[in-house]
Amino acid sequence: MPTFVRTDKCDGCKGQDKTACMYICPHDLMKLDKDGSFTGHAMKAFNQEPEQCWECYSCVKICPQQAIECRHYADIVPLGASVQPLRGSDSIMWTIKFRNGTLKRFKFPIRTTPEGSIEPYAGKPEADLSKIDQPGYYTGYLKEADRSQLLNA
Ligand code: SF4
Ligand code: SF4
Repeated sequence: MPTFVRTDKCDGCKGQDKTACMYICPHDLMKLDKDGSFTGHAMKAFNQEPEQCWECYSCVKICPQQAIECRHYADIVPLGASVQPLRGSDSIMWTIKFRNGTLKRFKFPIRTTPEGSIEPYAGKPEADLSKIDQPGYYTGYLKEADRSQLLNA
């Protein structure tokens, strides 16, 4: 399902040169229609090639206005349902709307460390280079990496 921008919610990221959805899209699909010449909606973003969409949801999650939805093509799937994320600093709240109007919400944690921090080796042992020839060698982390040892190993 490609992305669909709700023009009633999109604020064009307040006129920034590069909007959040343009910044995050790995396939460079999102475009800000500055003068409305593409869509008839000035200062609103749109997916310029929906058939190329990876459906990765990155733009859906990053949009600060919750203006982006994923929708199937209307000629295949009747409209009316939607999936909308609301990203917080430590969780995402997903709002699922069914075509009969039923609403369900699911909150999922998305971090194990505070926003902006990372601990990739938390709780993991340091690598022991003396065991590098052994099967199952644990590559963990090297507190003081000795590059000459690694290259000669
Ligand atoms: S990130 Fe959201 S608000 Fe910003 S331009 Fe894209 S759709 Fe509009
Ligand atoms: S879902 Fe992914 S590939 Fe599709 S427009 Fe959004 S960021 Fe780009």
